[in-house]
Amino acid sequence: MSIDPPTGLRPETLAVAFGYDPQSASGSVKAPIYMTSTFVYPSAQHAKDVHEAYFDGTGPQVGQSNHIYSRLGHPGLDILEARLAAIDGAEAGAAFCSGMAAHSSIALTYLRPGDSVIHGRPIYGGVDMLYNTIIPQYGSHAAAYLDGTDEADVRAAAETAMARGPLKLIIAETPANPTAAIVDLALMARIADEVGERQGHRPLVVVDNTLLGPFAQRPIELGVDLCLTSLTKYCGGHSDLLAGGITGRRELIDSLRMMRTTWGNHLDPYTSWLVLRSLESVHVRTERAMANARGVAEFLRDHPKVAGVTYLGFLPEGSRQREVYDRQCKAAGSTFSFHLHGGEAEAFRMLDRLRLMKLAVSLGGSETLICHSASTTHYAVPPEQRGAGGITDGTMRLSVGLEHIDDLIADLAQALDAV
Ligand SMILES: *Cc1c(COP(=O)(O)O)cnc(C)c1O
Repeated sequence: MSIDPPTGLRPETLAVAFGYDPQSASGSVKAPIYMTSTFVYPSAQHAKDVHEAYFDGTGPQVGQSNHIYSRLGHPGLDILEARLAAIDGAEAGAAFCSGMAAHSSIALTYLRPGDSVIHGRPIYGGVDMLYNTIIPQYGSHAAAYLDGTDEADVRAAAETAMARGPLKLIIAETPANPTAAIVDLALMARIADEVGERQGHRPLVVVDNTLLGPFAQRPIELGVDLCLTSLTKYCGGHSDLLAGGITGRRELIDSLRMMRTTWGNHLDPYTSWLVLRSLESVHVRTERAMANARGVAEFLRDHPKVAGVTYLGFLPEGSRQREVYDRQCKAAGSTFSFHLHGGEAEAFRMLDRLRLMKLAVSLGGSETLICHSASTTHYAVPPEQRGAGGITDGTMRLSVGLEHIDDLIADLAQALDAV
């Protein structure tokens, strides 16, 4: 049940106003934007107390939101982080200047040379690059599981990883980009416990919850350690900002925030305000987008030129994926992939005929976006790994928006005629 114990309120209610007191800003109903890089100290002693509280976690100012410099924290960030945590049902939250800034911060905070990590495949291209190209240059190793609902497969990835070094992170993007492949979060937590017993320290389970967002899937309630969301997508919701959020236990978030101070990848005051505004309506927007997505997915499933649709709402009854979906997700989302008969040529012909749907990467905005995965979002992923993740040359990812469903289907129908 998603009720926040301290407030007794549900996430939809917390999304509207939690974390902001109008009395702190002349009664303004909406939080102001504090466009400042630095903050005045009322006295020299106060300045010392604030620094002691921030860096040592002791002193008279601990627990008060006194600010020093906007890279360390600012009022808009405080409100946003409190609200993200409240919506996710977590103790604390941290916001970053993009989803990848949040992912990179987790890697750099929790991995040291020699450590290892496991992740699923397919996975967001940037995350694939982070763990398989960038992080190995710093001496860490990654192993991938291909079916995040198959205990033997995940266990084998964990063994491969542990043979190379202590397993510190279990990364689960679910549903995964772009095919909506599902990862069993209870299984990840169980494997983390077992690995913890063997290693003497438990790896952290990190979930990328971007594709369903905070209302359709609640990873913290499912027992994961850190919940990461690219706020650029559904939470921002209008394709006009980049931001990333992480929620979880206070001590984990505190170490991420402390590192963020040095890396300088915090979220700025203006974008923090934009995200706060968007968070108020994310549950309403995603409900409509998901209803549209179902209609579009059903149209595509029945179309003779379409070889398949990987939409969560179509998971077969009795399958392992369906069992996990029923246990873990509240809705099927509005981003999914479909595969045309044929390859790149057929896909490009269709894409170039679309009039309404926009050909662009990204997802979760108010407008419908479509892209050809192999040549765009997953261009940098080697073809055999793409294939293993279910991405063919005819695969297209669709992020269904808020337009009228009949207009969306009409646009797809006329474009498919060109194939
Ligand atoms: C977009 C995305 C990211 C990266 O977020 P940015 O805000 O673009 O940096 C990470 N994970 C998933 C699943 C995404 O869709």
